[in-house]
Amino acid sequence: MKQIAILGSTGSIGTSTLSICEQFPDRYRPVALAAGSNIDVAFAQAKQWRPALISIATAELADALRARLKADGITDVEVVCGTPGTVAVATHPDVEFVVSAIVGVAGLEATYAAVEAGKTIGLANKECLVAAGDLIIAAARAKNVALLPIDSEHNAVHQCMRGGAAREVSQVWLTASGGPFRSTPLEDFKTITPAQALKHPTWVMGQRITIDSATMMNKGFEVIEACRLFDLPPDKVRVTVHPQSTVHSLVEFQDGSILAQISVTDMRLPILYALAYPERPASTLTFDLATLSHLDFSQPDFAKFPCLRLAYEAAASSQAACIALNAADEIAVAAFLGGTIPFLGIPRTIERVLELTPAARLESIPAVLDADRAARVCAQEIIAAGI
Ligand code: NAD
Ligand code: MG
Repeated sequence: MKQIAILGSTGSIGTSTLSICEQFPDRYRPVALAAGSNIDVAFAQAKQWRPALISIATAELADALRARLKADGITDVEVVCGTPGTVAVATHPDVEFVVSAIVGVAGLEATYAAVEAGKTIGLANKECLVAAGDLIIAAARAKNVALLPIDSEHNAVHQCMRGGAAREVSQVWLTASGGPFRSTPLEDFKTITPAQALKHPTWVMGQRITIDSATMMNKGFEVIEACRLFDLPPDKVRVTVHPQSTVHSLVEFQDGSILAQISVTDMRLPILYALAYPERPASTLTFDLATLSHLDFSQPDFAKFPCLRLAYEAAASSQAACIALNAADEIAVAAFLGGTIPFLGIPRTIERVLELTPAARLESIPAVLDADRAARVCAQEIIAAGI
């Protein structure tokens, strides 16, 4: 029985992970959970799974959760809160495997603490690799910790990499659905609304990643994530638009062979792969190849999706640029969803923040978090001044 912790248990990846625990009760048991502010779902999860420990965003929410559990006769679940709470969940002594699925840099400290504590990591939270990939990878190497990607593209790359040696890889191809505006003419981008941008054609996900998919910033983050995970320079991580989201990514080897991974469009499969690695347990997450009529691939349109260009530029520039890219995007996406800036204001805000960010390398997680805060303030000022 593998005892697991889930950081971000109430989110899209978190609930999919719990659904895998339900399907494989003899293999995986969640013993520590960390949630944000969704107290109703956190309560239901604590009641169903009886974890030893559950963390929630604030002290007030923790008091409320404790009271609800007590009223229900549940006294064996310890409730903690805030960043120290997520770190306690990530480092719980009974936990062997940590699913990192908090959205944004809010998950960084706990993910890093889990690596330092020697836990195997199933990594969904791409933003922490964008902001602090070098530090996390170095710590994982030092502790001999496996970082197993849950992001579907990187999970596919991880699978394809098993077909050859790392030194034999010539490049990696990340597939992109192209999002809801793949075929929208550039002149219509000015009037895109949050409701339109929140309708992803192939995946159901949290709000931030859904908007990031509409701007293709998500693919930009994934380029940086792939550089960090597979130790590749940005020019060896290519993007191909593949609207069916059936091929999850491809690895090209120096002899000319290209290996692709094909499966259902369901995040439970990469989660299961990471949890079970190196085994492949039998599952019902099958894909009927007979229903497949064609697969399309095309080049991404950098004019329509400047966020992708900005991500390649940040990847080639410096760690400070990658931190600013993520922080500015998080602020800009929230401003777009709140109706403060238009859709095209997202890349404009990020580009401006990047121009104002000097190249730098950050040596510690607190230094990364300081740079992140500074970039957020910068983005907020740019938005307040009118973008
Ligand atoms: P989501 O918004 O559905 O869930 C986010 C989770 O993080 C929730 O449980 C929320 O309560 C928690 N959270 C947020 N702020 C927190 C805080 N300050 N402290 C503690 N918990 C906090 O997001 P998601 O779609 O599940 O994505 C999670 C991560 O996985 C993101 O980094 C995303 O990029 C990545 N990812 C998601 C998918 C997907 O299909 N959903 C695919 C690939 C990668
Ligand atoms: Mg992905």
